[in-house]
Amino acid sequence: MPAFVIPEPRRPVLAVHGTDALFPVRRVYCVGRNYAAHAREMGADPDREPPFFFSKPGDAVVPGGQIPYPPATADLHHEVELVVAIGRTGTAVTAADAPGLIYGFAVGVDLTRRDLQAVAKKGGKPWDMAKGFDNSAPVGALVPLDAFPMPEAGPITLDVNGQRRQTGDVSDMIWPVPDMLAHLSALVTLEPGDLVFTGTPDGVGSINRGDLVQAEVAGLPLLAFTMV
Ligand code: MN
Repeated sequence: MPAFVIPEPRRPVLAVHGTDALFPVRRVYCVGRNYAAHAREMGADPDREPPFFFSKPGDAVVPGGQIPYPPATADLHHEVELVVAIGRTGTAVTAADAPGLIYGFAVGVDLTRRDLQAVAKKGGKPWDMAKGFDNSAPVGALVPLDAFPMPEAGPITLDVNGQRRQTGDVSDMIWPVPDMLAHLSALVTLEPGDLVFTGTPDGVGSINRGDLVQAEVAGLPLLAFTMV
């Protein structure tokens, strides 16, 4: 038997817009149902739930370009999201202190195997295989906070083949970024390299092989990818 060859861990990197710097990704956390209209389209009551989180593997992050259509689904959904990149360690920070942890922002799409998620929800089972599969977290170029103010308002949109599918405004978040980071950092210690997907507006839907997806948030660099 040939010896095993165990490679060094692969840490995806995000380009830092306007520089040669690279941002190595550690963990990926996502918040569920953070826009009321999307919570309603998923059959939930947006008014009564504290934020809840799930995660994707760090190496699910990909920079866009060509993304392989994943196995085991016939209903792959797009969810455009503002992504927060963490640049400082924080545990149980207050909302007032949370902005001090933020390195910058990017546009991401939380790819979701909606059919597997529906089965998991129905059975009270984990979402991991619906959310945390290979290449499930395309993220665009990162803009440092010192070059771009915290996007507290601004359009969040997603087009498929030039047709608008999702339209919202980041000011519609139920849990704004500082409040969300306060909640999340009470559950886990946030570390440099962590990414936080901050939820999607309504209009989520299916994408298929050959589709071009273009996602924009509040003037951040466009995220574009094609499903292959
Ligand atoms: Mn999402």
